[in-house]
Amino acid sequence: MEIYCDSAATTAIDPEVIEAILPYLTTNFGNPSSSHWAGRKVREMIDNSRNTIARLLGVTAEEIFFVSGATEANNLALSESIREYELTHAITSKIEHKAVLQPLLKREKEGDIEISYVKLDKKGNVDLEHLERLLAANPQTLISLMHANNEIGNITDIEAISRLAKKYNAIFHTDTTQTIGKVKIDLNEFPVDFLVGSSHKFHGPKGVGFIYINKKHKLKPQILGGAQEKGQRGGTENAIGIVGLAKALEVAYRDFDSIHEKTAALKQRLISQLENRGIAEIGFNGESKSETKSLSSIVNVSFPCLQSGSLVNSLDTFGIAVSGGSACSNLGNGGSHVISAIQHESNRENVRFSFSKFNTTEEIDHIVNTIVKIYEVDNSIAEDTASAQHSFSLAL
Ligand code: PMP
Repeated sequence: MEIYCDSAATTAIDPEVIEAILPYLTTNFGNPSSSHWAGRKVREMIDNSRNTIARLLGVTAEEIFFVSGATEANNLALSESIREYELTHAITSKIEHKAVLQPLLKREKEGDIEISYVKLDKKGNVDLEHLERLLAANPQTLISLMHANNEIGNITDIEAISRLAKKYNAIFHTDTTQTIGKVKIDLNEFPVDFLVGSSHKFHGPKGVGFIYINKKHKLKPQILGGAQEKGQRGGTENAIGIVGLAKALEVAYRDFDSIHEKTAALKQRLISQLENRGIAEIGFNGESKSETKSLSSIVNVSFPCLQSGSLVNSLDTFGIAVSGGSACSNLGNGGSHVISAIQHESNRENVRFSFSKFNTTEEIDHIVNTIVKIYEVDNSIAEDTASAQHSFSLAL
């Protein structure tokens, strides 16, 4: 039995999305820059896809640009806004994705900007009062704070941050990779300067995403060599990806309530089963146990270290795909920068379970039963080892 419970890493493509893509893999193969019929068919699809995304987010089509994914979109927003506005300061947090931290650190290393890290509480929530103090002390700043964390699922109040950004005239970029299609964002309600989306996180194809650039900004392209995307990104458009992205987002919004209800129920089932089955001391990282402060699709659990290796690897041998970072001393791979930024308890294995509409309650039950079995076997190995050591020391 194979169970996929790692949807924050990537998701399976929805069959409706595959159906929408197929004509662009076969008959509609034209280059959208060509002015003849073959090109026009694909150009029309790209325009429609852009309109769909803009409508769902409450923005105009002119503000949506297709790119290769969230990594590219984050790099573009951060590096090019720093360059365009000659910014010398950025505010971010220690638990951002590397696609945010690395471009900022590069600019800091090059001497262009100084970075301030906003304080986080023990659960990884942004301290908004500290953010305001940082903003008051640093005029003309760039804020980059993610909407939901990809490891612990914490949801940040980007509406409150947007208000603060406006008050202090700051530029606000938010990494919405984990929330596009999962949390409704209506940019009519509050402004942000840049946000990003990656199709493979919401059942679309990989290697395609978008950036929203508020119309008051004009950024220089990162990728030169063509006039595509109104000169914002050179290179023939990923037509297959774009049609899939738009369809995937449409489906995510159409079925929003039922998907949310399903993933939330799976999450609560996993949490209560893990708590009730007596698997040593477990804990929940960040806000991941919360129904409201965390994504319905992510739970990050802190487990005691196994004697016999890693829990993530053991689950994989039983066909269960989850992900995690281990700070267990016997594994020694250092753990995750997100977990170490918020908790100092070492010697734990932190496992991220992330769900999609394709998971079932039977799968959750099977995962928990497998974890129980793994700990039972591990405890018996530990007892055997202890008794062997005891006999050995008596024999000496
Ligand atoms: N930001 C966050 C929060 C993510 O979860 C990811 C994907 N793990 C990325 C950025 C990078 O996305 P992509 O795979 O589209 O480059």
